[in-house]
Amino acid sequence: MLEVKDLHVSVEGNEILKGLSLSINAGEVHAIMGPNGSGKSTLSAVIAGREEYEVTSGSITYDGQDVLEMSVEERACAGLLLGFQYPVEIPGVKNIYLLKAALNAKREAQGLGEIPAPEFMKLIKEKAALMQMDASFLQRSVNEGFSGGEKKRNEILQMLVLEPRLAMLDEIDSGLDIDAMKVVSDGVNSLRSEERAILLVTHYQRLLDYIVPDRVHVLVDGRIAMSGDADLARELESRGYDWVLEESVA
Ligand code: ADP
Ligand code: MG
Ligand code: MG
Repeated sequence: MLEVKDLHVSVEGNEILKGLSLSINAGEVHAIMGPNGSGKSTLSAVIAGREEYEVTSGSITYDGQDVLEMSVEERACAGLLLGFQYPVEIPGVKNIYLLKAALNAKREAQGLGEIPAPEFMKLIKEKAALMQMDASFLQRSVNEGFSGGEKKRNEILQMLVLEPRLAMLDEIDSGLDIDAMKVVSDGVNSLRSEERAILLVTHYQRLLDYIVPDRVHVLVDGRIAMSGDADLARELESRGYDWVLEESVA
């Protein structure tokens, strides 16, 4: 589904990704782990099309399409969706309207009409219940006054409503207590399907006890230094990251 080849990315003249390659198939959950500042967030942001990043060489293809030729909106409508690492507050815009606008933009790109109001209400209520979110959240301004855990739930709610083909989630576990982590993980697990892939960026192994990945990649200094299965995440938890670099250089 997604093929990243020898990707080099710079920000303000500094090279951050230094020849990263990654291949993700439909149905798979991939976890990107690695030390702070290694480029994890940069990778998902570049795939999603955030503009401050300059791709200096390499390629990203999605279902054979050149992703780097697509605008941010085209990528989102094609099903490449990144949640918010630090979900923004949008005063004055009700959460429910933002979700509906995003869903309708996607439907329009697919040649479908606007979702009928009763159908949307049914959908949103069902998904909010899954995330254990009170209906009142939907009527509040986007993320305004939401706690850290509520923002994360809202981020997963957005994924459940928009149903991306490649859901990219950056540090959805940061600042969550165990109960919230369970709800958020259950939400992500309910997204798992044969047609969909999930790219999880996480600094900690803990999340991967709840969302068991098919592949784990360790990103060190802008490159994937090692890949493995879920056991690799456990090994990282006990051994840290230094040995990965030593073994990948050796
Ligand atoms: P990670 O998510 O692995 O912690 P990031 O991808 O956020 O790492 O960042 C990798 C490096 O790129 C860091 O040194 C960071 O300071 C730098 N960087 C990322 N985004 C920007 C930006 N928008 N402007 C300047 N530097 C950036
Ligand atoms: Mg290279
Ligand atoms: Mg990050």
